[in-house]
Amino acid sequence: MSSLYDRYGRKIDYLRISVTDRCNLRCIYCMPEWGIIPRSPQEILSFEEIERIAKESTNLGMNKIRVTGGEPLIRRELAKLIRNLSKIEGISDLSMTTNGTLLKDYAQELRNSGLNRVNISLDTLNEEKYKFITRSGKLGETLRGIDEALQAGLSPVKINVVVMRGINDDEIVDFIKLTYDKPLSVRFIEFMPMGSKVFRDEERFIPAWEIKAHCQRFAQIEPFIDSSLTGLDQADSLPGNGPARYYRIRGALGAVGFISPLSSPFCSSCNRLRLISDGRLSPCLYSQYQIDLKRSLRQGASSEEIRNLIRLAISNKPKEHHYQSVAGQVMSQIGG
Ligand code: SAM
Ligand code: SF4
Repeated sequence: MSSLYDRYGRKIDYLRISVTDRCNLRCIYCMPEWGIIPRSPQEILSFEEIERIAKESTNLGMNKIRVTGGEPLIRRELAKLIRNLSKIEGISDLSMTTNGTLLKDYAQELRNSGLNRVNISLDTLNEEKYKFITRSGKLGETLRGIDEALQAGLSPVKINVVVMRGINDDEIVDFIKLTYDKPLSVRFIEFMPMGSKVFRDEERFIPAWEIKAHCQRFAQIEPFIDSSLTGLDQADSLPGNGPARYYRIRGALGAVGFISPLSSPFCSSCNRLRLISDGRLSPCLYSQYQIDLKRSLRQGASSEEIRNLIRLAISNKPKEHHYQSVAGQVMSQIGG
C-alpha cells in the first residue's frame, strides 16, 4: 500500500471522523449553554458514506482512524459503524474520543466490534465541579465508564484533562494519583480559548510547561515510553515528535502526558485529516479550507474522484495552524 505525504514531507496516515455534532453534555469551553442548532439527519453523513470515505482513505495509505463528535456514543447503533470500520483492510488502529458517560453501557460491545482503544474526557474528580463544567453531567457515570473500558480490554485507556486556571488546576495532583494503581494514561491538555466571553477564556489558559512543573513539585516523574499505555512507538514519544510527551511516577501502573497545542504546537509532525459530520474534509482543526465530500458522494463520484479530493485536502494542509482563525467557532461542531 502506498503512503501519503503532504508538501512539507509529513506522512498523513490518520483520519479523525466526527460522527455527530450533537452532545449530551454542554461543557463550558466547548458549547454554549443552550447548545447548538444541530444539523438535520440528512445533512449528516450516513454510516455507508463514512465507511466509503474511510475505505478510500485506507486505499491511499491511511491506517489509523479515530471516531469522535460531538459525543459519538449518542449516534444510534454506533457499534455497527465500528464493526464495519474494523473490517476495512489496512486499518491498524481504531480508536474513539468520548465523554465516557455512556461507556458503561457500550464499552464491551464496542470492544467486541473491533474498537482498540478509547480516550475519555474528564476535567474534574469533583462531583459538583463536574456538573458545573459539563453543565449537566454526572461524574459517577463517567467514572464507571472508565472502569468498564478497562474491564472490556480497551487499551490503552487515556484520560484527557483540559486544564483551566481557577477551575480545575487545583486537581492536577489528584489526577496524577489516578495513575498509581490503574493502567491509565492521564493527559493534561492546554485549554484553547475559543472566544467565549461568558467564561472569560483568555484568563483560563495555562501552558503545558506550567502544568508539568506543578506535577514535578508533587512527584518525581521520569520520561516514559511504553506503547501499551501511550499507544505510541518509540519515535513518536520523542519530544516534538507527537502531540503528547509521556512521563511516569516511579512505580505507578499508568502514565502522565502533556499536550501543548498552543504553547508548543506539534504541527511539524501532524499526521491527520478531519472528516466533519456533515461531510466536509478538513486538513487542520483550524483550517477554513474544507472539501465537501458529501456533495461529491451524493452526486455519484467514483472512487478515483473521492481519492483525488482526499489528495487535494492533503495538498492544502497548512504548514502550521492558524489558531486565531477559529476563535468563536464551536469545537463540538468541528469535531475535536
Ligand atoms: N464529546 C467527546 C469528548 O468530550 O471527548 C468528543 C468530542 S470533544 C469536542 C473532543 C475533545 O475536545 C475533548 O477532549 C474536549 O475536552 C476537547 N475540547 C473541546 N473544547 C476544547 C477547548 N476549548 N480547549 C481544549 N480542548 C477542548
Ligand atoms: Fe460534548 Fe465533548 Fe464538547 Fe463536552 S467536550 S460539550 S462532551 S463534545
